[in-house]
Amino acid sequence: MNGDELSRVLNVHKVMARAYADDRLHRVGICDMRSFVIAAAWVFTIERPRENYWVRVAELVRIRPESLWLVFSDDAPRFQPPQSAQPRECEAAVLKRGKEGVCGRRGTHSFRVTDPSDGTWRTAAYCTRHEAEAKTAFAAEQQMRRSRIIPEPDANTGGLLPCYFRWDWESCYAQAVRGWKPPRLGIRADDWPVMARAVPVRPARLTLVAGAGEDVVPGRPEGAGPLTVVGDGR
Ligand SMILES: [Zn+2]
Repeated sequence: MNGDELSRVLNVHKVMARAYADDRLHRVGICDMRSFVIAAAWVFTIERPRENYWVRVAELVRIRPESLWLVFSDDAPRFQPPQSAQPRECEAAVLKRGKEGVCGRRGTHSFRVTDPSDGTWRTAAYCTRHEAEAKTAFAAEQQMRRSRIIPEPDANTGGLLPCYFRWDWESCYAQAVRGWKPPRLGIRADDWPVMARAVPVRPARLTLVAGAGEDVVPGRPEGAGPLTVVGDGR
């Protein structure tokens, strides 16, 4: 083994150690992101097969090559509201035994409510008894959006693959998610402020179709500049 090979092996070991310690890597959609990172590091630095590298990564993590786009779309940096495990409950204010509280019945109407200061949003819900309150809150949201310029919310989800691999991820995400735009704070989750950093969210599939009408399989990395493994990352 020459020096170059040795350094590549050591690099993969570093990536593996980081990936095992990185609790942001979890199962997203169809794929366990920790396995994906490790498989990609292995294929791109050690195995370096003749075939398309990504196809080999897909094979190792047991997904179809076309599904690579879903992995990339799930990793596209974006804002995602924290999701509660509870089914959405009606949030209309009610008096309960003389105290102010919320209704709490199962919500049937739901819509986005935006925080105009930072553009983050959550889903508000109201039950059938509180349709009037729902209408009022919905109208207030519409009015606020019409009258103010709402900032783009900072990304808090995705952006993990660029923490491990240097590549033209912006092009990749833009191809995986129609209409995707790079977030203000950059595409690497490592660069986001701690408060905004990826909180585990349930795998909510983006409503946009990944890779529709584009290449079936992501191109060989050489097409977009070489993909290299980020050394020790920080
Ligand atoms: Zn209610």
